[in-house]
Amino acid sequence: MGPGDEQFLWIPVSLADHVYDPTKSYCGLYAVSIREPPKSPTAQIIQLLSMKGMSLISIKSQEKDRMIYDFMIIETTGCTHTKEDLTEEIKEAIGDSLIYLEFVETNVSGFIYNVKGFPLVFNHANEPMPVTAVTHSTWKTFFSGMVKRFGSGGMVMLWFMGNDAGEAEGMEAKILSGKLTVKARLNISLAKLQALGWGRFELAECDEGRVIIRVFENFEDIVTKGLANYRNTFLRGFLVGLVSVFFNKACRGVELKCINRGDPYCEFMIR
Ligand SMILES: [Zn+2]
Repeated sequence: MGPGDEQFLWIPVSLADHVYDPTKSYCGLYAVSIREPPKSPTAQIIQLLSMKGMSLISIKSQEKDRMIYDFMIIETTGCTHTKEDLTEEIKEAIGDSLIYLEFVETNVSGFIYNVKGFPLVFNHANEPMPVTAVTHSTWKTFFSGMVKRFGSGGMVMLWFMGNDAGEAEGMEAKILSGKLTVKARLNISLAKLQALGWGRFELAECDEGRVIIRVFENFEDIVTKGLANYRNTFLRGFLVGLVSVFFNKACRGVELKCINRGDPYCEFMIR
């Protein structure tokens, strides 16, 4: 992988990390400080840890109302520095801008995560929307359970679930403020799906009454690969519902290309 490879610039977006290694020890560090340029409290903490030879596994830094919220996961295996010492040194380095500092651990040795990391939100148009994520293996369980129990009836249910959700998304996109074309509003909705991990979307065509949407790495196909007779239904229902709202009519949708049939992407025509 490298420049020239079209996949090169796509980067994974990670939810909060869970770090677990029973042979190591970790701690989490919360620091809240006032932003006072050109000083960067985050950089100062990182520098201090680095000087002490401690490794910073991950960092989440956020700025809100001139305050900087940092959460760091630090490996402390074999570390001789006490938290008290480190606390003093950080306080000294950052000074009055530091308003809160806390080291956290879990009660499981070798396990650390963002203990105070909740809720999970997706910031859309300056409005944080709570998100409840499930992994691909859970989606796989949902889809295969529906098909195993209800056969093609299960797929019909999934289509309607997707369709209702797509319509609701369409309503939200329709009332988004600003002078936006239907194409722009559809693009915003598809970008939202990408942010939620459903796939990479491309609005290939958007004419009056006809839309073509390409989906690269469609999550539904990825999780149902190998599931006998499964046809893309949830996402197809969703896209049909979404487009129907914009065209003010009940549209129909067909999947013209599919990654599970060897195509490079799934392609849906909705009209
Ligand atoms: Zn497909």
